[in-house]
Amino acid sequence: MLSRAFLTAAVLSLTPCFGSATINIGSYLSSAILVRDVAVIGGGSSGTYAAVQLKRAGYSTAVVEKASRLGGHVDTYRDPVTGQTFDYGVLALLNTSVVRDYFALFSEALTVYTGAGPAVTRVYANLATDGEIVTPPSTIPWTDPAAVFASFLGYGAQISQYPFLSDGYSLPNPVPEDLLLPFGDFLAKHDLQALAGTAFSIVQGVGNLLATTTLYVFKYLPKTTIDAFVGIAPPPVTSATFNIQALYNKALAYLGSGTNVLLNANVIAIERDGPRVLVAVLTPSGPKLIIAKKLLVAIQPKLSALQGLGLDLTLQERDIFGQFNNSYYWDMVLKNTGLPSDRRFTNIDVDAPLGIAPMPGLYGLGPGPIANLTLAYYSSPSSRTDAQVKAETLEAIFKLKTANGFPPGTGTPEFVGFNDHRPFWLTVPPAAIAGGFYDKLNGLQGKKNTWWTGATFVAHDSSAIWNWTEVSLLPRVKASL
Ligand SMILES: Cc1cc2nc3c(=O)[nH]c(=O)nc-3n(C[C@H](O)[C@H](O)[C@H](O)COP(=O)(O)OP(=O)(O)OC[C@H]3O[C@@H](n4cnc5c(N)ncnc54)[C@H](O)[C@@H]3O)c2cc1C
Repeated sequence: MLSRAFLTAAVLSLTPCFGSATINIGSYLSSAILVRDVAVIGGGSSGTYAAVQLKRAGYSTAVVEKASRLGGHVDTYRDPVTGQTFDYGVLALLNTSVVRDYFALFSEALTVYTGAGPAVTRVYANLATDGEIVTPPSTIPWTDPAAVFASFLGYGAQISQYPFLSDGYSLPNPVPEDLLLPFGDFLAKHDLQALAGTAFSIVQGVGNLLATTTLYVFKYLPKTTIDAFVGIAPPPVTSATFNIQALYNKALAYLGSGTNVLLNANVIAIERDGPRVLVAVLTPSGPKLIIAKKLLVAIQPKLSALQGLGLDLTLQERDIFGQFNNSYYWDMVLKNTGLPSDRRFTNIDVDAPLGIAPMPGLYGLGPGPIANLTLAYYSSPSSRTDAQVKAETLEAIFKLKTANGFPPGTGTPEFVGFNDHRPFWLTVPPAAIAGGFYDKLNGLQGKKNTWWTGATFVAHDSSAIWNWTEVSLLPRVKASL
């Protein structure tokens, strides 16, 4: 087999040009050249949606995806014996026309979302220390159901003041002060501390919730979600077959695997200086060159990731993307944990502010929809290795069983699903937000024949991403073609 280095050298000229190699069009067989309207980098939620809608509108696309499937943060577990499926990555979608239409397009049914795993009693334990089940003290505000309900209303009233939040990051100048506060300070300022427990169970993957800038929490816990809690908006929905991957598999077939979607593919260089965008890709069937009118980047735009594409970044792009920090998020399925199937264990630290367990750490452990399976979610504000996350998860299971006298169970705990979703949430510090960072980011749209989409431009919310892509982005992309 030819090495990646050999193939890379064959399709790129050896003469460096402004720090990046030049794509050598003449080195490609004509059968390896794909001429398209739009080259899409990343076939997750945003990239797949954009490509499907562009195709429906009569435009040609080529999607380059590094994984062996479309779907990004979707993780669908399939039981090896029965074939039964359930989702444990992206799960909950807003019940909006964009979501319903997308699922209907691929004849995938929706049902009301009732949570990851069966509805069982929630109990609390410090999963970082002894694992002993505790009753949260009444000094923790979210232990009072009336206060929690009042906090939903109060939070809803607060977030209603910022209707611009539903349109990507189109922020006013000056950016409202409350949006720049750490979320813990925002809750204290508005006497909404009773919301913290609910926020901890929803706003996951951000690292430390109370330290997270309120703007980002507002994007993650939007008014529509709160309205569903208080019964004035429909509840979220999910795949009726508990298999969101099926939607993406059908999208793959619709777009054309191998022709318009390149899976297991590595972008090695992108040039945007001429009238067309050139994307050099290594695929399992050899090198390909996409020649497109426009580029749509649909990966998380950390500077290192964009440099990894061999993208000919401008100084302005380097400056903007170089400012992003990111949090870390893992989801897991284990078998043979021996944990009881009638309880969900939520991580708590009764001595921490508002009882919110600090991260790095687990959000909790609970039964999966299939017997003998346990779901677990873990986040960190800084990098952790998979080995560290696995070791801490196994330790928490051991402590839970020991501290609470659960029978040891049969078999050894084993990870049957484990996904590191780094880089998860891309954020910038409050001072950068106040300084107009998002205006500068949005100002990149359309420059150098390049458009941008995904969670960083909208929110970590597939429904919102699809809506924004449909309503705000694609009309501009189409007008540019
Ligand atoms: C565990 C978990 C649970 C979640 N639950 C929900 C939920 O219930 N509801 C909800 O709405 N959202 C949920 N989210 C948020 C989710 O991130 C967004 O809904 C959505 O997936 C973000 O879409 P995206 O297109 O920005 O990124 P992604 O979906 O991650 O897509 C990016 C794609 O780019 C690919 N890629 C990356 N680098 C390259 C490269 N160099 N070359 C080619 N391809 C590349 C990736 O493989 C990926 O397929 C969850 C996220 C996680 C991690």
